[in-house]
Amino acid sequence: MIVFDLQCPGGHRFEGWFGSAREFASQKKRGLLSCPNCGNGAIERVLSAPRINVGAAAPSPQAKTPEMEGKDPFAIAQILYSRMLDEIFTRSEDVGKAFPEEARKIFYEQAPARAIRGQASEEEHDALVDEGVPVARIPVPPRRQLN
Ligand SMILES: [Zn+2]
Repeated sequence: MIVFDLQCPGGHRFEGWFGSAREFASQKKRGLLSCPNCGNGAIERVLSAPRINVGAAAPSPQAKTPEMEGKDPFAIAQILYSRMLDEIFTRSEDVGKAFPEEARKIFYEQAPARAIRGQASEEEHDALVDEGVPVARIPVPPRRQLN
């Protein structure tokens, strides 16, 4: 069984369980799928965030791409992790060394809420965590730079 994230034109999102991707396509073609909220039959798959699962025997079919063919689970996890970093880099604003200050401003609503990235020292990071500011440390491979 595989789970797909589905969405109707009205923006309702729900999960659908299918025996295979082919079964989903077949049910969709025969008009057997409809939104549980509004009954609309124009159901589309929504891409879910890649799930990183190093121990898994095989990645889920929807996450598989040609670059993953024949790779072991660890190599696949690295590819997925790299994609996640791309996602973070694309969607966050780089504030560099001003990170601790900016994270605090957002937390205390003195700056517009948004996703930011940057650097913080060990002490600065701990201080932010102590204050309850939601920050996360992400290990970045050496070839990538956060700024
Ligand atoms: Zn709907």
